[in-house]
Order: sequence, then C-alpha cells, then structure tokens
Amino acid sequence: MSSSSSSSSSLPTQTLKIGIVGFGTFGQFLAKTMIKQGHTTRATSRTDYSQLCHQLDVPFFRDVIPFLEADNDVILICTSILSLSEVLNSMPLRRLKRHTLFVDVLSVKEHPRNVLLQVLPENMDVLCTHPMFGPESGKNRWKDLPLVYEKVRVRDETRCSSFLHIFESEGCRMVEMSCEEHDKVAARSQFLSHSIGRILAEMGIESTSMNTKSFETLVKLKESTTNDSFDLFSGLFIHNRFAQQELMNLEQSFEKVKQRLLKKMSEQQSLSSV
Ligand code: NAP
Repeated sequence: MSSSSSSSSSLPTQTLKIGIVGFGTFGQFLAKTMIKQGHTTRATSRTDYSQLCHQLDVPFFRDVIPFLEADNDVILICTSILSLSEVLNSMPLRRLKRHTLFVDVLSVKEHPRNVLLQVLPENMDVLCTHPMFGPESGKNRWKDLPLVYEKVRVRDETRCSSFLHIFESEGCRMVEMSCEEHDKVAARSQFLSHSIGRILAEMGIESTSMNTKSFETLVKLKESTTNDSFDLFSGLFIHNRFAQQELMNLEQSFEKVKQRLLKKMSEQQSLSSV
C-alpha cells in the first residue's frame, strides 16, 4: 500500500491492490471507479474475462491460486449471493500470503458475514458492505447514493478506511449499520420493490401513449428490477431471513385490498338494484 490523501475519518488513505472475485456486471462496474481513482485491480471469475480485462488493463487470473498469491491488500467478493459459499469454499485460502481485508458487496448482509467468518482464517479482516446502487442508478455519479457497511472484524483501520474512502470520495452517503439491521430494512424496501417489479414484469406491463407519472414509475421499476439477474432476486429472498415475512405481508395486503374492492362493488350493486 502507498500513502496518499486523508479521509474524512482523519486516518491517512492509501492506494490499494484490490483483487476482485466475480467479474460480472457489478464487479466490472466497481472496478472502473477503483481504477479511475488510481487503485490497482486484478480479477478472477468463473467465466473467462481475459479479453475484457485486457481492454481495461486489469490482470485476469483463470487460476485462483496465483490470484490469491498476488499480494492483494483487499479481496473484494462480487459473486452472486447464491454462489458465495461454493466460491469461497473452493478457494484454497491457506495460499494467502499475508493478512488481507475481505470485503463483500452482496445485497444481503448476514449471510456473507456468517460465511466469511466461518471460512476465513482468524487473521483476515472482514468488512461487509452493500452499495445501494448499481450500474444504472450509479451510471453517471455516486453522489448521495448510500453505501451501507459493517466493520465485522477490522484490525487494520487504515486499510479499511482507505477502502471506504473509495465510496466517500465519490460523495456516497456512508451508512454504518449492523448486517442484521440491514437485512431487516432491505427486506421491507429493496426486496419488496424487486418483488413488485417482478410481478409487474409477469403481468407484461408496457409504456402507453397516456402514461400517468405513477404508471411511468411502475414501468421504470419493472425495467430496473428485471435488469438484475434472477439469481440476484432469488438471493434476496433465500438468504435474507426477513424476506419471507415480507412476501407474506405483500400477499395478505393484496388480498385485503382485493376484498375491500369486492365488498364495495357488491355494496354498489345492491344499491343500484333497489
Ligand atoms: P449476480 O447475478 O448477482 O452475480 C453475478 C456474479 O456471480 C458473476 O461474477 C458470476 O461469475 C458470479 N457467479 C454466479 N454464479 C456463479 C457460480 N455458480 N460460480 C461462480 N461464480 C458465479 O449479478 P451482479 O449484478 O454482477 O451482482 C454481483 C453481486 O453484487 C451480487 O452479490 C449482488 O447482490 C451485488 N450487488 C449488485 C448490485 C447491482 O446493481 N447489480 C448492487 C449492489 C450489490 P461469472 O460472471 O464469471 O459467470
């Protein structure tokens, strides 16, 4: 690590060597900003991204062993929620040559925290994060977009602060919150909006020539949620223990609204029949 500017937490910040595991849509999106800021990145993934990485000037490792031995300050986990355990369990983590900060960006938080604490040697630091934005919403800038994080096991504060500074310096709103609290809130916000977006897609709603503003919002919701993979959506459900309750709440509320409408209709029908 080499020293550079100072972060808002007043610790010095450093340029980092960041190894990215999972170089799909979101891994690539984050890498671009990290490179722009002068950090060194390298990547490994299930798919061969050698060509794309060549264009980005990011070394790509087909083999995970040299990747682990590549002197990373940070290993950034950007795999799907569903594949996290499989990916981490298949990595020969004893090959790590030095104490490393493991960071995940999964859209659920208790699950990666538990898996990381379970599989990592005790001397590895763990930071769980969730950037609450993606390649579409963060396309132009990250200003005021939330970055939720919990310092789960951090001994090297300077390195952790340098990593968080990547988001701080882009103007993100930094929200420190426990993984449990994140999952509770996300089940009632992010999972709920993804579910409604998926339902709207199932209904095949499309923009019309007479859109109201509210309908436009629904079309946008449908589009933004279906841009994300179904693996991501199902991960939000399977690995957030609060999500099932929210799905039941959604079903019950739908039924209540429907019953109110049917009751009103039958009241109106009986009025018009007298
Ligand atoms: P995703 O479908 O959730 O994950 C795709 C990534 O997972 C790819 O790197 C893919 O590798 C890897 N992967 C999937 N199945 C795998 C398997 N069986 N074995 C090994 N690797 C596997 O899509 P994403 O949008 O790129 O999201 C990545 C992570 O970021 C997710 O955990 C998501 O929750 C989180 N996140 C995403 C957003 C967003 O807006 N997209 C925002 C915040 C956080 P290959 O590409 O090599 O196949």
